[in-house]
Amino acid sequence: MSFDPQDYISIEHELGAHNYKPLDVVLSRGEGVWLWDTDGNKYLDCLAAYSAVNQGHCHPKIRDAMIAQSQKLTLTSRAFRNDQLAPFYEELCALTNSHKVLPMNSGAEAVESAVKVVRKWGYEVKGVAENRAEIIVCSENFHGRTLAIVGFSTDPSARRGFGPFAPGFKVVPFGDADAMRAAITDNTVAVLIEPIQGEAGVVIPPDGYLRAVRELCSDNNVVFILDEIQTGLGRTGKLLAEEHESVEADLTLIGKALSGGFYPVSAVLSNSEVLGVLQPGEHGSTFGGNPLACAIARAALKVLVEEGMIENAEKMGARFQSALKGLRSNIVKEVRGRGLMIAVELQAEAGGARHYCEALKDRGILCKETHIDTIRIAPPLVITQGEVDWAMEQFSAVLTQTRH
Ligand SMILES: *Cc1c(COP(=O)(O)O)cnc(C)c1O
Repeated sequence: MSFDPQDYISIEHELGAHNYKPLDVVLSRGEGVWLWDTDGNKYLDCLAAYSAVNQGHCHPKIRDAMIAQSQKLTLTSRAFRNDQLAPFYEELCALTNSHKVLPMNSGAEAVESAVKVVRKWGYEVKGVAENRAEIIVCSENFHGRTLAIVGFSTDPSARRGFGPFAPGFKVVPFGDADAMRAAITDNTVAVLIEPIQGEAGVVIPPDGYLRAVRELCSDNNVVFILDEIQTGLGRTGKLLAEEHESVEADLTLIGKALSGGFYPVSAVLSNSEVLGVLQPGEHGSTFGGNPLACAIARAALKVLVEEGMIENAEKMGARFQSALKGLRSNIVKEVRGRGLMIAVELQAEAGGARHYCEALKDRGILCKETHIDTIRIAPPLVITQGEVDWAMEQFSAVLTQTRH
């Protein structure tokens, strides 16, 4: 049976739930920063699967590790031990300066796990009265799609129709340390924030915000949880985005690029006693910490560091951002970013970012709009100077053309 691109699109439309609105490009191959569609057209990937393929598509060393492990052992469940989990823990803790790891699969699961753990910590260690634990989150947050998580989202399309929601969350404006201070009570067990809000449109908090939140948490015996699922593992030009303000969270959540895009692998990293409250039988996951996941994640972390991808993200990010800021365009409102986590926000009169993403696609660049007016640019961290410059020619052509 042979499909043409329109067949794939119409079959997806007919048989699939319509919870996404993808660009109409049907991809069948990827290598490094490049993707090819079923007609053989080549594109530079400027989304990197929402930063899950920081290491580039189909990285040969991660692929080799995956194939080798899949020929030996893939899943034991945690009812038994496997020979990949301990080295994964050791390498991940050494790299991130963590004391304990809880391995899970998706990012949302890591967030849910952290929520459960800090509540239990609140009751058993901090002494909060039963069922009174509060967690402070920020407006415009994105932490995943499960029920507890969408319950504290402020995005109507993430929430509407899905209630009733779990209580115990308080929302304060992102970037406002005073509002955070005012929201903390004796029942506050944790603060959960993104160091940079990715899905909200690469929103960078004011300088000193992370440090201020760190201080508030320390002063009030509150667990500081940083969701680095998107910002972590090199994306912002540092291993973790918290390093930009020289702070350390108590719990750090990672996922996405932890597997280089080969497999869902996430983790809760702990610098404190918090993960210690979990006892056998209280939390788990059939696939969490399986040997295939661990072998893939070990290779994904190794190439990220050994091949200089984090430094490259910093260098190429600076080059990309300064070129974008230099564009003489009457539709660009603002260019902002850290490393290779970049946003181009368009003027409201530009008529939305979607149209520009379509135009970029026709020029061989795959980008996705976030919200209405923002184009996010987040290529794999292996992008070269020549590729950045080529991409800039396309952005320049699309963003400086006369208005439609
Ligand atoms: C993607 C993302 C998640 C959710 O990860 P999934 O693997 O899609 O469940 C959580 N937090 C942040 C900041 C993310 O970018």
